Amino acid sequence: MKKYDLIIVGCGAMGAAALYQAAKQGVNVLGIDRYHPPHEMGSSHAETRFTRLGVGEGPQYGPLVARSHEIWRELEAASGETIFYQDGLLIVAPKGEMLKEKHNHWENFVERSAEVAAEIGVPFEILQPEEIRARFPKIMVTDQEYAGFEPTGGHVMAEVAVAVQLKLAQEHGATFLPNSPVSAIEQNDADENGRKTVTVTAGGETFVADQVLITAGAWLNDFLPSHQHKNFRVTRQIVFWFEVDEPAEYHPENMPGVLWVGQRLEDYFAAFALPPGAKPGLKVLTEQYDVATNVHQMEREISAEETDAFYKKFGSQKIAGLKPNCLKSSVCIYTHTPDDHFVIDWHPEYDRNVMVVSACSSHGFKHSAAIGEAVVQKMCQGKSEIPLTAFAWERLSG
Ligand SMILES: Cc1cc2nc3c(=O)[nH]c(=O)nc-3n(C[C@H](O)[C@H](O)[C@H](O)COP(=O)(O)OP(=O)(O)OC[C@H]3O[C@@H](n4cnc5c(N)ncnc54)[C@H](O)[C@@H]3O)c2cc1C
Repeated sequence: MKKYDLIIVGCGAMGAAALYQAAKQGVNVLGIDRYHPPHEMGSSHAETRFTRLGVGEGPQYGPLVARSHEIWRELEAASGETIFYQDGLLIVAPKGEMLKEKHNHWENFVERSAEVAAEIGVPFEILQPEEIRARFPKIMVTDQEYAGFEPTGGHVMAEVAVAVQLKLAQEHGATFLPNSPVSAIEQNDADENGRKTVTVTAGGETFVADQVLITAGAWLNDFLPSHQHKNFRVTRQIVFWFEVDEPAEYHPENMPGVLWVGQRLEDYFAAFALPPGAKPGLKVLTEQYDVATNVHQMEREISAEETDAFYKKFGSQKIAGLKPNCLKSSVCIYTHTPDDHFVIDWHPEYDRNVMVVSACSSHGFKHSAAIGEAVVQKMCQGKSEIPLTAFAWERLSG
Protein backbone atom coordinates (compact mmCIF):
# COMPACT_ATOMS: atom_id res chain seq x y z
CA MET A 1 0.00 0.00 0.00
CA LYS A 2 1.50 3.37 -0.98
CA LYS A 3 2.02 5.78 1.89
CA TYR A 4 1.92 9.61 1.73
CA ASP A 5 2.21 12.51 4.15
CA LEU A 6 -0.91 14.06 2.65
CA ILE A 7 -3.66 12.94 0.26
CA ILE A 8 -5.86 15.55 -1.40
CA VAL A 9 -9.33 14.39 -2.50
CA GLY A 10 -10.50 16.58 -5.41
CA CYS A 11 -8.12 18.66 -7.53
CA GLY A 12 -10.24 21.58 -8.77
CA ALA A 13 -9.38 25.17 -7.81
CA MET A 14 -8.88 24.41 -4.10
CA GLY A 15 -7.25 20.99 -4.42
CA ALA A 16 -4.88 21.97 -7.22
CA ALA A 17 -3.73 24.98 -5.19
CA ALA A 18 -3.11 22.79 -2.13
CA LEU A 19 -1.32 20.14 -4.20
CA TYR A 20 1.03 22.76 -5.64
CA GLN A 21 1.74 24.36 -2.26
CA ALA A 22 2.33 21.02 -0.54
CA ALA A 23 4.67 19.75 -3.24
CA LYS A 24 6.58 23.04 -3.25
CA GLN A 25 7.20 22.60 0.49
CA GLY A 26 8.55 19.09 -0.04
CA VAL A 27 5.50 17.27 1.35
CA ASN A 28 5.06 13.74 -0.02
CA VAL A 29 1.60 14.40 -1.48
CA LEU A 30 -0.95 12.56 -3.65
CA GLY A 31 -3.80 14.39 -5.40
CA ILE A 32 -6.78 12.31 -6.56
CA ASP A 33 -9.71 13.39 -8.74
CA ARG A 34 -12.81 11.61 -10.07
CA TYR A 35 -12.23 13.33 -13.47
CA HIS A 36 -9.20 14.90 -15.12
CA PRO A 37 -9.03 18.56 -14.03
CA PRO A 38 -9.45 21.06 -15.43
CA HIS A 39 -12.80 19.64 -16.52
CA GLU A 40 -16.36 20.91 -17.06
CA MET A 41 -18.18 18.85 -14.41
CA GLY A 42 -17.56 20.93 -11.28
CA SER A 43 -17.20 24.59 -10.31
CA SER A 44 -13.83 25.67 -11.75
CA HIS A 45 -14.37 25.88 -15.51
CA ALA A 46 -15.78 28.37 -18.07
CA GLU A 47 -12.61 30.35 -18.71
CA THR A 48 -12.69 33.28 -16.29
CA ARG A 49 -13.41 34.29 -12.71
CA PHE A 50 -13.72 37.78 -11.24
CA THR A 51 -11.33 38.91 -8.57
CA ARG A 52 -11.39 42.07 -6.43
CA LEU A 53 -9.47 43.18 -3.34
CA GLY A 54 -12.32 45.21 -1.84
CA VAL A 55 -14.22 42.04 -1.00
CA GLY A 56 -17.75 43.16 -0.10
CA GLU A 57 -18.47 39.69 1.30
CA GLY A 58 -16.40 40.65 4.37
CA PRO A 59 -12.98 41.76 5.63
CA GLN A 60 -12.03 38.17 6.58
CA TYR A 61 -11.42 37.55 2.85
CA GLY A 62 -9.02 40.46 2.29
CA PRO A 63 -5.75 38.64 3.14
CA LEU A 64 -6.74 35.58 1.08
CA VAL A 65 -7.45 37.46 -2.13
CA ALA A 66 -4.42 39.74 -1.75
CA ARG A 67 -2.13 36.74 -1.30
CA SER A 68 -3.83 34.98 -4.23
CA HIS A 69 -3.00 37.95 -6.49
CA GLU A 70 0.66 37.45 -5.54
CA ILE A 71 0.50 33.70 -6.19
CA TRP A 72 -1.14 34.21 -9.64
CA ARG A 73 1.90 36.31 -10.59
CA GLU A 74 4.27 33.68 -9.15
CA LEU A 75 2.52 30.99 -11.21
CA GLU A 76 2.72 33.14 -14.35
CA ALA A 77 6.45 33.61 -13.86
CA ALA A 78 6.98 29.88 -13.32
CA SER A 79 4.81 28.74 -16.25
CA GLY A 80 4.91 31.51 -18.86
CA GLU A 81 1.07 31.42 -18.97
CA THR A 82 -1.21 34.44 -18.48
CA ILE A 83 -3.42 33.80 -15.45
CA PHE A 84 -4.40 37.23 -14.11
CA TYR A 85 -5.77 40.21 -16.11
CA GLN A 86 -5.83 43.16 -13.71
CA ASP A 87 -8.26 45.09 -15.90
CA GLY A 88 -10.60 46.34 -13.18
CA LEU A 89 -13.98 45.29 -11.85
CA LEU A 90 -17.18 47.35 -12.03
CA ILE A 91 -20.10 46.73 -9.65
CA VAL A 92 -23.35 48.25 -10.96
CA ALA A 93 -26.29 48.61 -8.57
CA PRO A 94 -29.66 50.38 -8.36
CA LYS A 95 -29.65 53.80 -6.71
CA GLY A 96 -31.56 54.16 -3.43
CA GLU A 97 -33.16 51.55 -1.21
CA MET A 98 -33.31 47.99 -2.47
CA LEU A 99 -36.46 45.86 -2.26
CA LYS A 100 -36.66 43.85 0.96
CA GLU A 101 -39.02 41.09 -0.30
CA LYS A 102 -36.42 38.32 -0.18
CA HIS A 103 -32.88 37.88 1.17
CA ASN A 104 -30.51 39.36 -1.40
CA HIS A 105 -26.86 38.78 -0.54
CA TRP A 106 -25.88 41.52 -2.99
CA GLU A 107 -27.69 44.17 -0.95
CA ASN A 108 -25.63 47.38 -0.56
CA PHE A 109 -22.78 45.60 -2.28
CA VAL A 110 -21.20 48.75 -3.71
CA GLU A 111 -21.14 50.38 -0.26
CA ARG A 112 -19.85 47.23 1.43
CA SER A 113 -17.10 46.83 -1.17
CA ALA A 114 -16.18 50.53 -0.86
CA GLU A 115 -15.89 50.17 2.93
CA VAL A 116 -13.56 47.17 2.73
CA ALA A 117 -11.51 48.87 0.00
CA ALA A 118 -11.16 52.01 2.15
CA GLU A 119 -10.11 49.94 5.18
CA ILE A 120 -7.26 48.30 3.30
CA GLY A 121 -6.30 51.31 1.16
CA VAL A 122 -7.42 49.94 -2.20
CA PRO A 123 -8.64 52.46 -4.82
CA PHE A 124 -12.41 52.32 -5.32
CA GLU A 125 -14.26 54.96 -7.36
CA ILE A 126 -17.99 55.70 -7.22
CA LEU A 127 -19.24 56.42 -10.74
CA GLN A 128 -22.50 58.02 -11.89
CA PRO A 129 -24.30 56.79 -15.06
CA GLU A 130 -22.81 59.43 -17.37
CA GLU A 131 -19.27 58.64 -16.17
CA ILE A 132 -19.85 54.89 -16.64
CA ARG A 133 -21.08 55.42 -20.22
CA ALA A 134 -18.14 57.69 -21.06
CA ARG A 135 -15.48 55.32 -19.67
CA PHE A 136 -17.01 51.97 -20.57
CA PRO A 137 -19.18 52.44 -23.68
CA LYS A 138 -20.15 48.75 -23.87
CA ILE A 139 -21.85 48.88 -20.48
CA MET A 140 -25.45 50.10 -20.80
CA VAL A 141 -26.55 51.50 -17.43
CA THR A 142 -29.78 53.39 -16.79
CA ASP A 143 -30.05 56.75 -15.00
CA GLN A 144 -31.37 54.84 -11.97
CA GLU A 145 -28.08 52.98 -11.55
CA TYR A 146 -24.58 53.83 -10.35
CA ALA A 147 -21.39 51.82 -9.87
CA GLY A 148 -18.27 51.18 -7.84
CA PHE A 149 -15.07 50.61 -9.81
CA GLU A 150 -12.00 48.84 -8.42
CA PRO A 151 -9.04 49.18 -10.83
CA THR A 152 -7.09 46.50 -8.94
CA GLY A 153 -9.78 43.89 -9.62
CA GLY A 154 -9.96 41.83 -12.78
CA HIS A 155 -10.16 38.34 -14.22
CA VAL A 156 -8.40 35.09 -13.34
CA MET A 157 -8.16 32.41 -16.05
CA ALA A 158 -9.79 29.46 -14.28
CA GLU A 159 -8.72 26.36 -16.21
CA VAL A 160 -5.26 27.81 -16.84
CA ALA A 161 -4.74 28.39 -13.10
CA VAL A 162 -5.82 24.83 -12.24
CA ALA A 163 -3.73 23.25 -15.02
CA VAL A 164 -0.61 25.26 -14.16
CA GLN A 165 -0.81 24.37 -10.46
CA LEU A 166 -1.29 20.67 -11.25
CA LYS A 167 1.67 20.73 -13.64
CA LEU A 168 3.98 22.61 -11.28
CA ALA A 169 2.92 20.37 -8.38
CA GLN A 170 4.05 17.32 -10.32
CA GLU A 171 7.30 19.04 -11.27
CA HIS A 172 7.88 19.56 -7.53
CA GLY A 173 7.32 15.84 -6.90
CA ALA A 174 3.56 15.47 -6.28
CA THR A 175 1.73 12.39 -7.51
CA PHE A 176 -1.51 13.13 -9.39
CA LEU A 177 -4.13 10.43 -9.96
CA PRO A 178 -6.98 11.57 -12.25
CA ASN A 179 -10.14 9.64 -13.24
CA SER A 180 -10.22 7.81 -9.89
CA PRO A 181 -13.25 8.57 -7.69
CA VAL A 182 -12.47 8.25 -4.00
CA SER A 183 -15.03 5.82 -2.57
CA ALA A 184 -13.91 5.64 1.06
CA ILE A 185 -11.90 7.55 3.65
CA GLU A 186 -11.31 5.68 6.90
CA GLN A 187 -9.34 6.62 9.94
CA ASN A 188 -7.17 3.78 11.25
CA ASP A 189 -6.63 2.78 14.86
CA ALA A 190 -3.82 4.54 16.70
CA ASP A 191 -0.31 3.08 16.34
CA GLU A 192 2.09 2.57 19.26
CA ASN A 193 2.83 6.33 19.25
CA GLY A 194 -0.85 7.17 19.43
CA ARG A 195 -0.93 8.44 15.84
CA LYS A 196 -3.83 7.61 13.56
CA THR A 197 -3.31 7.33 9.82
CA VAL A 198 -6.05 7.51 7.20
CA THR A 199 -6.79 4.97 4.45
CA VAL A 200 -8.18 6.29 1.17
CA THR A 201 -9.75 4.03 -1.46
CA ALA A 202 -9.88 5.28 -5.04
CA GLY A 203 -10.46 3.46 -8.30
CA GLY A 204 -9.83 0.05 -6.75
CA GLU A 205 -6.54 1.06 -5.06
CA THR A 206 -5.90 1.91 -1.43
CA PHE A 207 -3.48 4.49 -0.11
CA VAL A 208 -2.46 5.50 3.40
CA ALA A 209 -1.62 9.00 4.60
CA ASP A 210 -0.90 10.84 7.80
CA GLN A 211 -3.43 13.48 6.76
CA VAL A 212 -6.23 13.92 4.21
CA LEU A 213 -7.59 17.14 2.75
CA ILE A 214 -11.10 16.97 1.23
CA THR A 215 -11.58 19.55 -1.51
CA ALA A 216 -14.37 17.77 -3.36
CA GLY A 217 -16.42 20.86 -4.27
CA ALA A 218 -20.09 20.09 -4.92
CA TRP A 219 -19.42 16.44 -3.98
CA LEU A 220 -18.42 17.37 -0.41
CA ASN A 221 -21.58 15.85 1.08
CA ASP A 222 -20.39 12.41 -0.11
CA PHE A 223 -17.81 12.66 2.68
CA LEU A 224 -19.97 14.18 5.43
CA PRO A 225 -22.50 12.71 7.86
CA SER A 226 -26.07 13.15 6.60
CA HIS A 227 -27.03 15.71 9.27
CA GLN A 228 -24.45 18.09 7.75
CA HIS A 229 -25.79 17.88 4.19
CA LYS A 230 -28.21 20.77 4.65
CA ASN A 231 -25.24 23.09 5.15
CA PHE A 232 -23.96 22.58 1.59
CA ARG A 233 -26.71 23.38 -0.90
CA VAL A 234 -25.88 22.61 -4.52
CA THR A 235 -27.45 24.67 -7.31
CA ARG A 236 -27.18 24.40 -11.09
CA GLN A 237 -25.97 27.54 -12.82
CA ILE A 238 -25.54 28.28 -16.53
CA VAL A 239 -22.78 30.21 -18.30
CA PHE A 240 -23.44 31.52 -21.84
CA TRP A 241 -21.15 32.87 -24.57
CA PHE A 242 -22.99 35.17 -26.99
CA GLU A 243 -21.66 36.47 -30.28
CA VAL A 244 -20.21 39.99 -30.48
CA ASP A 245 -19.19 41.78 -33.66
CA GLU A 246 -15.78 43.14 -32.75
CA PRO A 247 -14.31 40.78 -30.12
CA ALA A 248 -11.23 42.99 -29.61
CA GLU A 249 -13.49 45.75 -28.20
CA TYR A 250 -14.32 43.39 -25.32
CA HIS A 251 -10.72 42.43 -24.55
CA PRO A 252 -9.57 43.12 -20.97
CA GLU A 253 -7.77 46.34 -21.95
CA ASN A 254 -11.09 47.74 -23.29
CA MET A 255 -13.65 46.38 -20.85
CA PRO A 256 -13.56 45.57 -17.13
CA GLY A 257 -15.53 42.71 -15.63
CA VAL A 258 -19.06 43.82 -14.72
CA LEU A 259 -21.02 42.47 -11.81
CA TRP A 260 -24.60 43.78 -11.94
CA VAL A 261 -26.70 43.78 -8.82
CA GLY A 262 -30.45 44.18 -9.27
CA GLN A 263 -33.43 44.84 -7.01
CA ARG A 264 -33.93 41.11 -6.58
CA LEU A 265 -31.49 38.23 -6.23
CA GLU A 266 -32.58 36.85 -9.60
CA ASP A 267 -31.74 40.17 -11.31
CA TYR A 268 -28.01 39.50 -10.87
CA PHE A 269 -26.07 39.62 -14.14
CA ALA A 270 -22.35 39.39 -14.91
CA ALA A 271 -20.33 39.98 -18.07
CA PHE A 272 -16.68 38.96 -18.32
CA ALA A 273 -14.10 40.58 -20.58
CA LEU A 274 -13.06 38.42 -23.52
CA PRO A 275 -9.44 37.34 -23.06
CA PRO A 276 -7.36 37.34 -26.26
CA GLY A 277 -7.28 33.85 -27.74
CA ALA A 278 -10.38 32.75 -25.80
CA LYS A 279 -13.64 31.50 -27.30
CA PRO A 280 -15.12 34.10 -29.68
CA GLY A 281 -18.26 34.86 -27.63
CA LEU A 282 -18.69 37.14 -24.63
CA LYS A 283 -19.24 35.23 -21.39
CA VAL A 284 -22.36 36.29 -19.47
CA LEU A 285 -24.42 34.74 -16.68
CA THR A 286 -27.04 35.17 -14.00
CA GLU A 287 -27.60 33.17 -10.79
CA GLN A 288 -30.44 31.05 -9.45
CA TYR A 289 -30.90 29.91 -5.85
CA ASP A 290 -34.52 28.71 -5.93
CA VAL A 291 -33.90 25.14 -7.12
CA ALA A 292 -31.37 22.94 -5.33
CA THR A 293 -30.07 19.80 -6.99
CA ASN A 294 -28.03 16.66 -6.37
CA VAL A 295 -24.64 16.80 -8.08
CA HIS A 296 -24.91 13.12 -9.08
CA GLN A 297 -28.23 13.63 -10.90
CA MET A 298 -27.88 17.16 -12.21
CA GLU A 299 -29.21 18.07 -15.66
CA ARG A 300 -26.13 18.86 -17.76
CA GLU A 301 -27.98 19.79 -20.96
CA ILE A 302 -29.07 23.41 -21.48
CA SER A 303 -32.36 23.86 -23.31
CA ALA A 304 -33.08 26.40 -26.05
CA GLU A 305 -35.78 27.82 -23.76
CA GLU A 306 -33.22 28.52 -21.02
CA THR A 307 -30.94 30.28 -23.51
CA ASP A 308 -33.77 32.36 -25.01
CA ALA A 309 -35.13 33.35 -21.60
CA PHE A 310 -31.68 34.51 -20.49
CA TYR A 311 -31.10 36.63 -23.60
CA LYS A 312 -34.57 38.14 -23.43
CA LYS A 313 -34.16 39.17 -19.78
CA PHE A 314 -30.55 40.40 -19.86
CA GLY A 315 -28.72 40.08 -23.14
CA SER A 316 -30.21 42.86 -25.16
CA GLN A 317 -30.25 45.36 -22.30
CA LYS A 318 -26.93 45.35 -20.48
CA ILE A 319 -24.03 45.00 -22.94
CA ALA A 320 -23.89 46.90 -26.22
CA GLY A 321 -23.30 44.71 -29.27
CA LEU A 322 -24.26 41.40 -27.63
CA LYS A 323 -26.07 39.43 -30.35
CA PRO A 324 -28.76 36.76 -29.77
CA ASN A 325 -26.58 34.03 -31.27
CA CYS A 326 -25.43 31.82 -28.38
CA LEU A 327 -22.11 30.21 -29.38
CA LYS A 328 -21.69 27.99 -26.35
CA SER A 329 -23.14 27.36 -22.91
CA SER A 330 -22.04 25.30 -19.94
CA VAL A 331 -23.49 24.14 -16.64
CA CYS A 332 -21.47 25.14 -13.59
CA ILE A 333 -22.17 24.43 -9.92
CA TYR A 334 -22.57 26.62 -6.84
CA THR A 335 -22.35 25.03 -3.38
CA HIS A 336 -23.78 27.40 -0.78
CA THR A 337 -23.58 27.38 3.00
CA PRO A 338 -26.52 28.98 4.87
CA ASP A 339 -24.56 32.21 5.49
CA ASP A 340 -22.75 32.19 2.10
CA HIS A 341 -19.36 31.97 3.82
CA PHE A 342 -16.72 29.25 3.44
CA VAL A 343 -16.04 26.25 5.65
CA ILE A 344 -12.33 25.54 6.13
CA ASP A 345 -11.90 23.34 9.16
CA TRP A 346 -11.20 19.87 10.51
CA HIS A 347 -13.73 17.21 9.48
CA PRO A 348 -16.35 16.96 12.28
CA GLU A 349 -16.15 13.15 12.53
CA TYR A 350 -12.41 12.47 12.54
CA ASP A 351 -9.52 13.36 14.78
CA ARG A 352 -7.47 16.28 13.59
CA ASN A 353 -5.96 14.74 10.51
CA VAL A 354 -8.79 15.16 8.00
CA MET A 355 -9.53 18.70 6.87
CA VAL A 356 -12.34 20.04 4.68
CA VAL A 357 -12.45 23.03 2.34
CA SER A 358 -15.97 23.70 1.06
CA ALA A 359 -16.59 24.71 -2.55
CA CYS A 360 -16.82 28.27 -1.27
CA SER A 361 -20.22 29.32 -2.56
CA SER A 362 -20.08 31.43 -5.67
CA HIS A 363 -17.05 33.48 -4.72
CA GLY A 364 -14.21 31.09 -3.94
CA PHE A 365 -11.96 31.10 -6.97
CA LYS A 366 -10.34 34.46 -6.28
CA HIS A 367 -9.18 33.13 -2.88
CA SER A 368 -8.27 29.61 -3.94
CA ALA A 369 -4.51 30.03 -4.43
CA ALA A 370 -4.08 31.41 -0.90
CA ILE A 371 -6.53 28.93 0.62
CA GLY A 372 -4.38 26.12 -0.76
CA GLU A 373 -1.30 27.68 0.80
CA ALA A 374 -2.93 28.40 4.18
CA VAL A 375 -4.50 24.96 4.50
CA VAL A 376 -1.20 23.23 3.76
CA GLN A 377 0.54 25.45 6.34
CA LYS A 378 -2.12 24.59 8.93
CA MET A 379 -1.98 20.86 8.23
CA CYS A 380 1.77 20.50 7.84
CA GLN A 381 3.16 23.22 10.13
CA GLY A 382 0.32 23.50 12.64
CA LYS A 383 -0.55 27.13 11.87
CA SER A 384 -1.38 29.23 8.81
CA GLU A 385 0.00 32.72 8.23
CA ILE A 386 -3.47 33.89 7.18
CA PRO A 387 -6.00 33.08 9.92
CA LEU A 388 -8.77 30.66 8.95
CA THR A 389 -10.81 30.89 12.15
CA ALA A 390 -13.62 32.86 10.46
CA PHE A 391 -14.39 29.76 8.37
CA ALA A 392 -14.91 27.28 11.26
CA TRP A 393 -17.77 24.76 11.42
CA GLU A 394 -19.08 26.02 14.76
CA ARG A 395 -21.22 28.77 13.23
CA LEU A 396 -23.24 26.19 11.25
CA SER A 397 -25.97 24.03 12.77
CA GLY A 398 -25.95 20.24 12.65
C1 LIG B 1 -20.81 30.01 -12.80
C2 LIG B 1 -19.83 30.28 -11.70
C3 LIG B 1 -19.25 31.53 -11.60
C4 LIG B 1 -18.36 31.82 -10.57
N1 LIG B 1 -17.78 33.04 -10.54
C5 LIG B 1 -16.83 33.29 -9.63
C6 LIG B 1 -16.10 34.51 -9.69
O1 LIG B 1 -16.32 35.34 -10.58
N2 LIG B 1 -15.15 34.72 -8.76
C7 LIG B 1 -14.86 33.80 -7.78
O2 LIG B 1 -13.99 34.07 -6.95
N3 LIG B 1 -15.53 32.63 -7.71
C8 LIG B 1 -16.49 32.35 -8.61
N4 LIG B 1 -17.15 31.16 -8.60
C9 LIG B 1 -16.88 30.21 -7.49
C10 LIG B 1 -15.63 29.40 -7.72
O3 LIG B 1 -15.48 29.07 -9.07
C11 LIG B 1 -15.65 28.19 -6.81
O4 LIG B 1 -15.71 28.63 -5.46
C12 LIG B 1 -14.44 27.30 -6.99
O5 LIG B 1 -14.18 27.04 -8.33
C13 LIG B 1 -14.65 25.99 -6.24
O6 LIG B 1 -13.51 25.18 -6.41
P1 LIG B 1 -13.45 23.74 -5.76
O7 LIG B 1 -12.07 23.26 -5.93
O8 LIG B 1 -14.03 23.76 -4.39
O9 LIG B 1 -14.50 22.86 -6.62
P2 LIG B 1 -14.22 22.07 -8.00
O10 LIG B 1 -13.39 22.85 -8.90
O11 LIG B 1 -15.53 21.59 -8.48
O12 LIG B 1 -13.32 20.85 -7.54
C14 LIG B 1 -13.81 19.74 -6.85
C15 LIG B 1 -13.09 18.54 -7.43
O13 LIG B 1 -13.36 17.40 -6.63
C16 LIG B 1 -13.43 16.29 -7.49
N5 LIG B 1 -14.13 15.22 -6.79
C17 LIG B 1 -15.40 15.19 -6.37
N6 LIG B 1 -15.70 14.02 -5.78
C18 LIG B 1 -14.57 13.28 -5.82
C19 LIG B 1 -14.24 11.96 -5.41
N7 LIG B 1 -15.16 11.16 -4.81
N8 LIG B 1 -13.01 11.51 -5.64
C20 LIG B 1 -12.07 12.28 -6.25
N9 LIG B 1 -12.33 13.55 -6.67
C21 LIG B 1 -13.57 14.03 -6.46
C22 LIG B 1 -14.19 16.83 -8.70
O14 LIG B 1 -14.02 16.03 -9.83
C23 LIG B 1 -13.58 18.22 -8.84
O15 LIG B 1 -12.49 18.22 -9.75
C24 LIG B 1 -18.04 30.83 -9.61
C25 LIG B 1 -18.63 29.56 -9.70
C26 LIG B 1 -19.50 29.28 -10.74
C27 LIG B 1 -20.12 27.91 -10.83
